This record gives sequence, structure tokens and C-alpha cells, in this order.
Amino acid sequence: MQQTYIVYVVLAVVFAVALLLIWRASKKRRAVVAPPEEQRPTLEAVPPVAGKLEKVPEKRPPVEKGKDLKEGLEKTRGGFVARIGSLIGKKQIDQALVDQLEEILFTADIGAKTAHKLFEAVKASLSRNELKDADAVWAIIRKESEAILERAQEKAGALDVGRAKPFVLLTIGVNGVGKTTTIGKLAAKFTADGKKVILAAGDTFRAAATEQLEIWGQRTNTPVVRGKENSDPSAVIFDAVKRAQTEGYDVVICDTAGRLHTKDNLMAELEKIRRVMKKALPEAPHETFLVLDATNGQNAIAQAATFKQAMDITGIVLTKLDGTAKGGVILGICDELQVPVRFIGIGEKVADLRPFDAREFVDALYEADDTGTNSQ
Ligand code: GDP
Ligand code: MG
Repeated sequence: MQQTYIVYVVLAVVFAVALLLIWRASKKRRAVVAPPEEQRPTLEAVPPVAGKLEKVPEKRPPVEKGKDLKEGLEKTRGGFVARIGSLIGKKQIDQALVDQLEEILFTADIGAKTAHKLFEAVKASLSRNELKDADAVWAIIRKESEAILERAQEKAGALDVGRAKPFVLLTIGVNGVGKTTTIGKLAAKFTADGKKVILAAGDTFRAAATEQLEIWGQRTNTPVVRGKENSDPSAVIFDAVKRAQTEGYDVVICDTAGRLHTKDNLMAELEKIRRVMKKALPEAPHETFLVLDATNGQNAIAQAATFKQAMDITGIVLTKLDGTAKGGVILGICDELQVPVRFIGIGEKVADLRPFDAREFVDALYEADDTGTNSQ
């Protein structure tokens, strides 16, 4: 009798525990069911004007370590820097040597005007009998190079994306120079600094261009405003700026196409983007970055001059310094344009986009390497 009673009690307890477990499991399931569409205060809640907003992924991968600056400038150091090194390392410093130096500088892809400036500085020093050895020549070249780079930097203060909200950054440049890649890297940097970033896929010429930006958006946990293929880029960018305002984004980075048939078409399109953008936010763009590819050497200087004539450029991003011996072009760009270089690209990883520092750059460019080509 007592045994039957115990069995009943055990059964009752098991039943109660089972009921409790079933109740808890059903509560958990109810919790993950999304609220109705209209109650969701998410990005999708704002109706799109021209573009579609991509969903933001949950996780951001860690930033991979980038190249050392000296490593990134290895090819340029192996180019004109090494040639100067082997010229002045062996011989006595005299007029004949300075003439040979002139030839190296003029063929160094730094632009004729800048080559002349460097050469004149060395020549003046020689005439003052200050050039006793190779170290003295390097000191002049370094000093003059740094002065050229610094002079252009001084025209603008430090880049401060916190000075406006939203801060609108427009990137321009011809096709293939690295605009989209740079935007992805910048999005990662600003996000890491705690900024809420939104990207505008203003290169609507190819679907692939938007997809490329979206991949960066996913990598960096950044939403992308996109339009249909061949839709008006101004409308996409207008939409992104509006969204940034209504949804509290700190920084809007706008991609553009660089592939229009003629130069005049391209400039007219970019001018329209600026005009339309101002309708959303009169102070925009707060910065306009011209992206240039260092592998283009002196052509990059010519490109920069063309863009500068048509657009108000506030900063340069010089990419692909890792892949060329023509990195000295940065001197020509700064000297001839007097626009500050904001960032340099020395590789394809996020960390390979580095804020530009004239002193650091000159040190890495002219620093002695293992072959001893540079005696500094
Ligand atoms: P866009 O047409 O101006 O948008 O140029 P993309 O961003 O599509 O870049 C063109 C190519 O250049 C891509 O393969 C990039 O990975 C590459 N690229 C961009 N910046 C750098 C850089 O600093 N170093 C190297 N090695 N490649 C780069
Ligand atoms: Mg692109």
C-alpha cells in the first residue's frame, strides 16, 4: 500500500518537472519570434528614396596586421633612392656628380618641377661647400622632400570627421585607382574609432561595383545604400545623406564612378553629385578625397591637376605604393597641387591604409636598407 503511494508521488513529481520543462522551452521559442514589421525600429523602417539598404551583419572580423611602412615603400627605395645611393656612396661629391644626380632626379617620376627643386637645393649646398660626403647629400634631399610634403599638409588641419554630424566624405578618381577599396578601409577605421558609418554606392555603372562595396560593408559591419544598375548616382548619394540624418549616422562615405566616356562627362556628373548632395545637406561634402594610383607615376600628377581644375579637392589618397617604384610621385603631387595627402595605401588589407605623416614617410623612404645603398 505504502509502496503504491510512493510510486504515485514519484510519478506526480516527474509529471510536474516535465510540465515545467515544456513550459520553459515554449517560452524560449516565443522570445525569438520577431515582432511585427511595423514595430521594428530598424534601418528598414525608413522608406527608401532611391536606393536599397543592405542588412548589417552581426559580427566584424578582427583587423589583420598590415605592412610596415618601410616594407610598403621597398620598391621605391629600390628605384630612385637606390640609384642616388649608389651614385653618391662611392665618389667624391663634386659638380660632375651633382650633374648625374640631376639626371636621376629627372627620371625618378617625381615630376620635373619637384626634381628641379631637389636638384637646386643640392647644388646650392655644394656651392656653399657644405657637401663633404654622402650623408650631407642625403640630409639635403631629406630636408627638401620633407619641406615639400609638409608645405602641402599645412594647408589643412588634421582630418576631423567629428566636426559635423553626419560628416560627408566624397571620393573621386578614375576607374581602378582604388576608390572602393579605400572606402572599405576607411569604413573599418572610422568604425573602429566608434563612428557609425554608412556607405553610398554611387558607382552605379556596373552591378559589380556595388557588390564590391557591399562586400566591404559586410566585412566592416557597415550598411550600404545602393541603387539599381545605371540609376542616377546623385539620387543614391542624396538618399544616403538623408538616411544618415534621420538615423543618426556619424559618417557617410560616398563612392563614385570614374569611367565616363569623356573627362567633361565625368566632371559634369561629379558636379551634379555635389549639387544634389547639398540639397540634402548644404555643408556637404565636408571633404572630397581624390584617389590616385602611385603606379601611374607622373600620370597621377596630370590626373590630379585635371580633377583639381574641376573640383574642390580637400585631400589626396595615394594607393598602391607597395606595388611600384614610382612612389616618389607623392612629392610631385604635393608640390604641384598643394593639396594634403590624407592617407596612403601600401597593400590590400585594412591596416595597409595609413594616415599620412610627412616625417614618417621621408624616414621610411630614405632610410638605409640592408644593401647599404643609403648611408643615412
Ligand atoms: P576603383 O575602381 O577606384 O574603385 O578601384 P578598386 O577599389 O576596385 O581597386 C582596384 C584594385 O586595386 C583592386 O584590386 C584593389 O585591391 C587594388 N588596390 C587598392 N588599393 C591598393 C593598395 O594600396 N595596394 C595594392 N597592392 N592594391 C590596392
Ligand atoms: Mg570602385
